[in-house]
Amino acid sequence: MIFEVLERSLQQPNRVIPVEALLGNCDGSRMPDVTSARLTPAIAQRLVEVCPTTAFSMGELGDRPCLKLSYAECIGCGRCEEPSEGAVVTAPRFTWCGLPKANLARLWDLESHTEITPPRPNPEMVRGQIRSLFGKALNIRQLDAGSCNGCEAEISALTNPYYDLERFGIHFVASPKHADMLLVTGPVTRNMAEAVKTTYEAVPSPKLVVAVGACGCSGGIFAGSHAVVGGVDAVIPVDGYIPGCPPTPAMLMTGILEVLRRRTVR
Ligand code: SF4
Ligand code: SF4
Repeated sequence: MIFEVLERSLQQPNRVIPVEALLGNCDGSRMPDVTSARLTPAIAQRLVEVCPTTAFSMGELGDRPCLKLSYAECIGCGRCEEPSEGAVVTAPRFTWCGLPKANLARLWDLESHTEITPPRPNPEMVRGQIRSLFGKALNIRQLDAGSCNGCEAEISALTNPYYDLERFGIHFVASPKHADMLLVTGPVTRNMAEAVKTTYEAVPSPKLVVAVGACGCSGGIFAGSHAVVGGVDAVIPVDGYIPGCPPTPAMLMTGILEVLRRRTVR
């Protein structure tokens, strides 16, 4: 009986998703994208008014009005789509993962209807570097600094047979002393601030820190609350940010890869 089951299971096609298919994939993340040509000053003003987290804000570039979108603060609620008259859509691809915080912001010139965000690293470049990035093992310690556990649910999915993070030599470890990378979720609550610092100090150098989710990036919907200190960088240095509320497993994978890539090519 058991041999029949084994035989049948070995005949099944391999269902592990290739990592190349994950890069830039943001299915289910609900993160917004902006179509520059449809953007007008009136629509931009509406986007700023409906956004509950100030992810959209108005600014100036010289004397020209511009619209800013900070993915560090976006919770993917989708409220900006309805009043946008088609200028905002759910992003078909999303590669703003694992970057420094300044690179999570996009800017649009409202007079010329053009995006003036600095160029992003090409996912194709990361794709070509995957083999060398995964040449060594990477141990990750996940740290919940005050999360609602939504981000943890997505992180847990990274170890399931579909994403199977362990196939690349990436492991989650129980002690910060065995870790190369800290993956920190949640806004840092006042009660957890000291524990976050102690955990960071317990990780041997050289170490990497990745802030996960809108909460980890900026405090998210809890920013400004008396109970939280802020995002992860309010307490410890951060190497890369993965936005989303929560980020999908594909965004987490893209972000971890991007942080490793920048570290490797530095
Ligand atoms: S999805 Fe929600 S949080 Fe993000 S920019 Fe739109 S309105 Fe703001
Ligand atoms: S980013 Fe969203 S899912 Fe993650 S901890 Fe914050 S509220 Fe929860």
